Amino acid sequence: MDKKFVISLIGAPASGKGYIASSLVNELQTKYHMAANDIKDISVGEMIRREKKANTPLGQELAANMKEGGLAPDRIVNKMLLKALDEVNAKVLILDGYPRTVGQVKTFDKLMENYSSAVIFRDTPKELILERVKNRRICEKCGKAHDVGDGICTDCGGKLVMRKDDSVLPERLAEYEEMTKPAVIELKNEGKNFFWYEGTAEGEDIAESFLKANEKYLA
Ligand SMILES: [Zn+2]
Repeated sequence: MDKKFVISLIGAPASGKGYIASSLVNELQTKYHMAANDIKDISVGEMIRREKKANTPLGQELAANMKEGGLAPDRIVNKMLLKALDEVNAKVLILDGYPRTVGQVKTFDKLMENYSSAVIFRDTPKELILERVKNRRICEKCGKAHDVGDGICTDCGGKLVMRKDDSVLPERLAEYEEMTKPAVIELKNEGKNFFWYEGTAEGEDIAESFLKANEKYLA
């Protein structure tokens, strides 16, 4: 591989992008014989949460510029991403949740100048997402994910609560419709290396067909 391969993963919040990412990692390791440190999964959402939690200068800038569950400003996300791309030594980078606004699509080309890249878009209907998330909880005490059950963590007895970003999911979905859908259309229209998958498609199947179609970037 002469260039690093960047895979952008976009789709509605809670549409199972993490599941696709882990399927990609799995497929890259088993079928393409990559080592774990050849692959780096970068979740933009997690990166933002981490910066905010660590209260870095970037984190403070983020906290000051976004509301709970809202999107971070393009300028800061781009800055953060450039830094991450520079620091990472892996051959394949999975960018979970980028680009997700028209503004980010516009800088995407520039960011990708020295990389091979492709976009995976998972098109999941809103109803399916709301249904999936309805019973999803995390433990207040140990942080593990569980189904709501009787509201008590089966591992530690802690109380199960909704994830903060799940409780604002309707707002996030509305924001997705308004901000990200146009970005998806833009990506598609620009003739990017763009792959569309249905929301019901299995992560494993997506990973398999996507990587097969992009084999030339992995050789
Ligand atoms: Zn627990």
